[in-house]
Amino acid sequence: MNVLVVNAGSSSLKYQFFDTTTGSVVAKGNCERIGLDGKITHKQLQSGKTYTAEIPMPNHAVATRIVVDALTNPEYGCVKSMDEIEAVGHRVVHGGPYFFESVLVTPEVIEKLELCRDLAPLHTGPHLMGIAGCTEVMPNVPQVLVFDTAFHQTMPAEAYYYPIPYEMYEKYKIRRYGAHGTSHRYVAGEMIKLLGKPAEETKIITCHLGNGSSISAVKGGKVIDTSMGLTPLDGVIMGTRCGAIDPAIVTFIMEKEGFTPAQMSDFMNKKCGFLGVSGISSDCRDIENAIAEGNERAALALNILNYQIKKFIGSYTAAMGGLDAIVFTAGIGENTSLVRAGALEGLDFLGIEIDRELNNSVRGKLTKLSTDNSKVQVWLIPTNEELVIASDTEAIVKALGK
Ligand code: ADP
Repeated sequence: MNVLVVNAGSSSLKYQFFDTTTGSVVAKGNCERIGLDGKITHKQLQSGKTYTAEIPMPNHAVATRIVVDALTNPEYGCVKSMDEIEAVGHRVVHGGPYFFESVLVTPEVIEKLELCRDLAPLHTGPHLMGIAGCTEVMPNVPQVLVFDTAFHQTMPAEAYYYPIPYEMYEKYKIRRYGAHGTSHRYVAGEMIKLLGKPAEETKIITCHLGNGSSISAVKGGKVIDTSMGLTPLDGVIMGTRCGAIDPAIVTFIMEKEGFTPAQMSDFMNKKCGFLGVSGISSDCRDIENAIAEGNERAALALNILNYQIKKFIGSYTAAMGGLDAIVFTAGIGENTSLVRAGALEGLDFLGIEIDRELNNSVRGKLTKLSTDNSKVQVWLIPTNEELVIASDTEAIVKALGK
């Protein structure tokens, strides 16, 4: 099936065009600066032909039309006409307490998604605009929503409730939802296949470490806990996000610095993390380079991440009553050997042993990092969220009998 996978942001629309029979991407691209001026970057992967243009994109519907034009272009496109686009799959950041799995877009689904606006104000509006854009341009093409929160919906109540008055949950739906669920689901699924035992018997910790990072405990193929919370600010230190901190620090800094709630939110999301601690950069590559030059604050930033991952591994092993495998994925997980080695340092008591040389040399490809003696397998598994979105979309649309 030909599936267009769409990731709509406030001013961008990223896309990948999948042929699900081969599981491969045939074209991909990005529309940027929607609502400002507009620029498309498109690539047909088989021929390597690219197309970039600055075209006015006042809204997501116009951007979608431009994407469809690129996909159907005789020179750099990949299909003859719009009729060959059989389905659209949207990445959706937050499904609140309403969505446990991927769903076909219907008017009722749109109503429920509207209820998620409060939970992810920066993302939900753009997603709705992306969906509306596709509906306008391709009214007869079925659309499916795939939620970053859905895989985490299996958490037990003690893992997702916060110890605040219960009416806060009832009134505002404040609870742990988690994020990066599509990535955790993909790598956990691959890890289960690699372990070669029934999914119900597996205990896996998945570490999605990128600009935003989250760690999940996946027992029997289902998430029982995850490090991100109501929002993607919780959990470990990130590029510019602080992760979990003493909640009293929030009111303390607001009082001392005279910050409004919006300013405090901006501070915690954009000024903290690697950037705040190192004073250098939010990017792990810059942090690594600074460490190589002897910068102590850069080393501190990375050590905080490594120590926090180690603590999550310990607590999630306890929560699952054991551990079969640890997976590292996403930008940092796939590329930064210092983090993988640092996080696992001293965990030999859990029976974890990695091949240090292999760990130091490998980047971005499926690799078993643990030795054959290791009781716990450690793997680098490159994530592929778009493939999950394309497969879910295909399955749901096929079930419609189309
Ligand atoms: P996002 O959360 O935005 O999807 P990514 O998964 O792309 O982020 O991860 C971005 C992080 O991964 C950055 O800190 C970056 O430094 C790091 N990273 C990406 N590629 C590499 C690389 N080749 N070498 C080292 N670090 C990398």
